[in-house]
Amino acid sequence: MKFCTQCGHQNDISVAFCNNCGTAMDTSQQQQQQQQQPQTVIYPQSGYQRPQSTPGKGMAIASMVLGIVSLCSGGYGIVTSIVGLILGVVANKQCTEAGFPTNKMATAGIVMSVIALALSILCVISCFACSSWLEGYINEFSIYDYL
Ligand SMILES: [Zn+2]
Repeated sequence: MKFCTQCGHQNDISVAFCNNCGTAMDTSQQQQQQQQQPQTVIYPQSGYQRPQSTPGKGMAIASMVLGIVSLCSGGYGIVTSIVGLILGVVANKQCTEAGFPTNKMATAGIVMSVIALALSILCVISCFACSSWLEGYINEFSIYDYL
C-alpha cells in the first residue's frame, strides 16, 4: 500500500499516480513505510502474556463480601468491616506489587468497609450516648419516686 501525499488515498504499490487525485506517487514514502513496518512487529512486550488470574483475587472477593455484610449489619459490623478493609488493602497491595492494576472488587471492598466502619462507630457512639441519656432520664424520673 502507498498513501498519497496529497489526499491520503490508499493506492496500490504498483501505481505511479494517485487513483484518487492523480498526484505523482512519492517513492520515498514507500521506503519509509517499509522501514516503519518492522518496528511495530518487533515489540516483544506486546506478546507478553499475563497470567489469567490476578493475585489476591480471593481476598478481593472476600473483602467485597465483608464490606457488603458490614454495611448491612449496622453497629455490629465493626469486626467484619475491619477484616474486609485489611483484606482489600492486602489484595490491592499484592496486585500492585505483581504489576497488575488494583483490583476493582478489592477497592469496592475497601470503600464499603470504610463506610461500614464509620457507620458502625457512629452507631456505637450514638447507642452509648442514647443509653446514658436514657439512664439519666430513668434515674431522674424514676417510677419509684411515685410509689
Ligand atoms: Zn491523491
